[in-house]
Amino acid sequence: AGDGDDDDALSARERERAARLAAIDDERARMQAERKELPIYPWRQEFLDAVAAHQIIIIVAETGAGKTTQLPQYLHEAGYSKLGRIGCTQPRRVAAMSVAARVAHEMGVKLGHEVGYSIRFEDCTSDKTLIKYMTDGMLLREFLSEPDLASYSVMMIDEAHERTLHTDVLFGLVKDIGRFRPDLKLLVSSATLAAEKFSAYFDDAPVFQFPGRRYEVEVFYAKAPEADYVDAAIQSVLRIHTQEPAGDVLVFFTGQEEIEAAEELLKQRTRGLGSRIAELVVAPIYANLPSEMQARIFEPTPPGARKVVLATNIAETSLTIDGIRYVVDPGFAKQNSYNPRTGMESLLVAPISRASANQRAGRAGRTSAGKCYRIYTHWAFMNEMDPDTVPEIQRTNLGNVVLLLKSLGIHDLVNFDFMDPPPAEALLRALEQLYALGALNDRGELTKLGRRMAEFPLDPQLAKALLASEKFGVSEDVATVCAMVSIGSAVFYRPKDKALHADNAHKAFSRGGVGDHVMLLNCYNAWAEAGFSSAWCAESFVQAKSMKRARDIRDQLVGLMERVEVEMASDPNNTDGIKKSVAAGFFYHTARLQRDGSYRTVKAPTTVHIHPSSSLREALPKWVVYHELVLTSKEFMRTVSEIKADWLVELAPHYYSRKDIADDGKKLPKGKGRAADA
Ligand code: ADP
Ligand code: MG
Repeated sequence: AGDGDDDDALSARERERAARLAAIDDERARMQAERKELPIYPWRQEFLDAVAAHQIIIIVAETGAGKTTQLPQYLHEAGYSKLGRIGCTQPRRVAAMSVAARVAHEMGVKLGHEVGYSIRFEDCTSDKTLIKYMTDGMLLREFLSEPDLASYSVMMIDEAHERTLHTDVLFGLVKDIGRFRPDLKLLVSSATLAAEKFSAYFDDAPVFQFPGRRYEVEVFYAKAPEADYVDAAIQSVLRIHTQEPAGDVLVFFTGQEEIEAAEELLKQRTRGLGSRIAELVVAPIYANLPSEMQARIFEPTPPGARKVVLATNIAETSLTIDGIRYVVDPGFAKQNSYNPRTGMESLLVAPISRASANQRAGRAGRTSAGKCYRIYTHWAFMNEMDPDTVPEIQRTNLGNVVLLLKSLGIHDLVNFDFMDPPPAEALLRALEQLYALGALNDRGELTKLGRRMAEFPLDPQLAKALLASEKFGVSEDVATVCAMVSIGSAVFYRPKDKALHADNAHKAFSRGGVGDHVMLLNCYNAWAEAGFSSAWCAESFVQAKSMKRARDIRDQLVGLMERVEVEMASDPNNTDGIKKSVAAGFFYHTARLQRDGSYRTVKAPTTVHIHPSSSLREALPKWVVYHELVLTSKEFMRTVSEIKADWLVELAPHYYSRKDIADDGKKLPKGKGRAADA
């Protein structure tokens, strides 16, 4: 009988295994069937023929047609990956990760093996990788180690319509290498119809336009301007949820803080409604959301429920979420703005363009007719919005890109083949800034310092701070500071019901008025001392995810510092050394106190304020260095430390003279905020 039992057990196991394999096969079959449903599929062969016939093609198709996920797979299936990798760039990190995950899934392979992605501070590829998704910024950096992109057979510059700074620079670089690498296929793909410009730029490359499927989207406007668009958007969502037929909702916000506020509002307003309304599944998506949470936006909505996706403009064209029938659009996005005259740069919330607004509306009509509710008036749409988004290259600091191009041996930037050249003033300002940082000499050539700076995937200011730290014996500490300011999201949090506890916990890191940079260092060190524990993060009201990311970034920075032979040393008590290192990179970002408690930037004077989140918001030191400016109700300096005026002349002799700080120590004059120049 024992034998019989064993047989049964064996066959049960076998049956289970067979069932599992069948389920995988089913899933595979379903997936392959789904791929054939995509609007782009009927054009597969024509596409492959076009690639065979031409070196460069411009591709235009609606968002959701299958450009990003399918075209690289078609090329792979047609054998291009035998000749070299198939690369595909994305302007956004989240899109690169998410699309790579999707394609790995469709191909039934492990992410990071045949299909991988590469984003700043995170490389999820291997020697096996055949299809590689990456941010446009990462491909730019790849030119440093592989100037002819020798390992690629195809490069697809995706989301070309976004015209990000990095994508625009890539256009010039790939166009150039295409000339001496006739075997490299180049695809430029865009979700908008403005393809003639791309075609003209790429020597009249053929345009391949896939007819998309798009259903009617009815657009509604606000009758009067809304003062609080987050609130108005949430009201709109609740109205849709209680009054409109089934279908998921997509709401566009400008960033993480807004999305969290909206989530909170939604929770409050639906609390107590209980079973009187259908279930509402809320799924946020923004750049710094942990990837396992990001996947939630793609999970099918349970029957009877409604999903609300709260997204940044990542959902405008980069990611397609199926099942969306309603779009709520407040009409804003976060934008970089840069004034080349003053060299001032800040992040601000600005109205989107009409082209963007129409893209957003289009997201409601992918699978059936939809509706778009605009939280602004028709008048605002016509009069307050630009027809198209201005390419980033014309409204940003070019320091980063200029340093990179110089490292690639491209010296004549004025005659670089830009699709739309940056303002001459911005280019000049970038050269000046790099000169002041010591990255370029007075002939505009890269210095040894500049060459070392270019090794770091960081803004020139941060790279300079890192390299300057060696002299003060605080390189490891400054690496930590740089990692902490690079995570791009808030480290400290402050729940409303425990605000006091949180404040006390945070104060421990800034004891002694050390300023925000050293505060970040102290926080990191305390976490390290606690064995990098998550429990410690919870007790200290510190975001564990942010800290882990900081640790990853720090590890990489330390690796790069070792590569360029920076002597590693730590002395966390040498706060002056740490702040001097920061100021050696950020001497452009310095301001001095005025009588009224505001600050004035040292050169090209502008009034700025210490951000309420700063540990120095009450101390108001006389001279400060700041990490960045954010424009909300005022220009706020975020991440601020006290410095001494003398340091500026010591650290940036090309930029500051005694005269700039001459009145230091004198009393501030009455009346006008500005100290006397005479
Ligand atoms: P395009 O690049 O033309 O906008 P995509 O290739 O991104 O189109 O999308 C094609 C299809 O793949 C869409 O139906 C989209 O919903 C689906 N898709 C893409 N990424 C994911 C994902 N991570 N999870 C589920 N579906 C996805
Ligand atoms: Mg796409």
